[in-house]
Amino acid sequence: MTDLGHVLTEAFGDEDGVVDVADVMQKMAEHKGCGTSSEGGKASCGSSGGPEDMDPAIWEKVKNHPCYSEEAHHHYARMHVAVAPACNIQCNYCNRKYDCANESRPGVVSEKLTPTQAAKKVLAVASTIPQMTVLGIAGPGDPLANPAKTFETFRQIMEAAPDIKLCLSTNGLALPDYVDEIAKYNVDHVTITINMVDPEIGQHIYPWIFWEHKRITGIEAARILTERQLRGLEMLTERGILAKINSVMIPGVNDQHLVEVNRAVKSRGAFLHNIMPLISAPEHGTVFGLNGQRGPTAQELKALQDSCEGEMNMMRHCRQCRADAVGLLGEDRSAEFTTDKIMEMEVEYDAAGRKAYQQAVEGERQAKVAARQEELATLGGATSAIKLLVAVATKGHGVINEHFGHAKEFQVYELSTAGAKFVGHRRVDLYCQGGYGEEDSLDTIILAINDCHAVFVAKIGGCPKADLLKAGIDPVDQYAHEYIEKSAIIWFKDYLAKVESGAIVHVERGDAAIRQGALLSAA
Ligand code: SF4
Repeated sequence: MTDLGHVLTEAFGDEDGVVDVADVMQKMAEHKGCGTSSEGGKASCGSSGGPEDMDPAIWEKVKNHPCYSEEAHHHYARMHVAVAPACNIQCNYCNRKYDCANESRPGVVSEKLTPTQAAKKVLAVASTIPQMTVLGIAGPGDPLANPAKTFETFRQIMEAAPDIKLCLSTNGLALPDYVDEIAKYNVDHVTITINMVDPEIGQHIYPWIFWEHKRITGIEAARILTERQLRGLEMLTERGILAKINSVMIPGVNDQHLVEVNRAVKSRGAFLHNIMPLISAPEHGTVFGLNGQRGPTAQELKALQDSCEGEMNMMRHCRQCRADAVGLLGEDRSAEFTTDKIMEMEVEYDAAGRKAYQQAVEGERQAKVAARQEELATLGGATSAIKLLVAVATKGHGVINEHFGHAKEFQVYELSTAGAKFVGHRRVDLYCQGGYGEEDSLDTIILAINDCHAVFVAKIGGCPKADLLKAGIDPVDQYAHEYIEKSAIIWFKDYLAKVESGAIVHVERGDAAIRQGALLSAA
């Protein structure tokens, strides 16, 4: 048995040496006195890249960072602490006053914290969710417009929990002033939101910036902002700090221009580019929401991401999280860690227990990759022009383990003879509400995955099954609790065989909608 095997078996294995991560998680939770139900559940796409196609030093930095590695996001969790309320620019897609507990968008937050409250919250979450490896400060304003609170929070966490990776997300206006401070606190990952490199376009996204004690508007504001963002990116690259660029795709405003943004950030050493859809509904009260600016469709977003992918690593698994999000991407456990609750919690930081748990998670990740490679080999060099999308209901761990009616999002994979590639996710309203299927929700779910040929689920009822089939989407439940990619490849081989034999005819699917409003239910 390997060293890793010994650690896991000693800590959590049965007499046959088999380690069940869900079981481990439950044991850890029980040990902490927490009643969790276990629900959780290059830099090629900075995303799908693994150790085999990455510099070992970079892999070390991203392997358990859920935002910088698509593979990691199935297994590791992150949290944001909302210690930075003020902002130094105005974006037309942002309104920090709007909050809805069921909503997930950057800038949205239920309560703001002091650095000391934030540090306590990090320890409480780290003790309850041992796969939480990353602490980010992402607002609700700009962390670098609140430097004292941001760096004091980092200082306290660095001392109390040195194994947790620190990261921050900024609009970049103040970034060049703080790169040395960022390096001092070992903040290894910085996200800069860059929506343009042309001030002519920027003036339609940013009405003003606050710069050198003055409010500046128009093209001048956008010019200063883009210069500061790109300079800050260069300075991060010079210091070996990984930079991810977030860009919001705003159809008719910057959608064509983002290809140029992609080139500009790549040439300055950005590690990963995350092009996200504009989320814009009137109830958010943003300028874009109120003036009817639409967001992109699913296929418009994917086409832009695909066209930039040859240029650099693309992130496709971003969930546009709240500034107080907690948990795996795609789940939000922030309600379990309100200030009242964490102040009452007895927190015991068990670094050794966390390490053992994370070793078990790493074993799980490796087993998943091995299963995918094994299945991929059976395609044996087959070629076909057919490329299609499938949706997957999952609670995490890279497994098909969610019921159709309980899914709050579906992960989307592109299948071809090259294998199964994660290309995005679609948030949906819950179908099952209070024990009954909700027909209105079903319509929106079908719209959200309308470009998919099949939906993989752990379980599904007769009614939604019939409606999905009517819409041309195959509900697949025979791979419950199996690995996603392995199962998808098996299904795809079968699909190709049926097309070849004439049993079915392959047809292209239509477009799909990206949900703009708040969830109907978070239950
Ligand atoms: S907003 Fe995107 S990048 Fe930030 S924590 Fe969420 S998934 Fe990661």
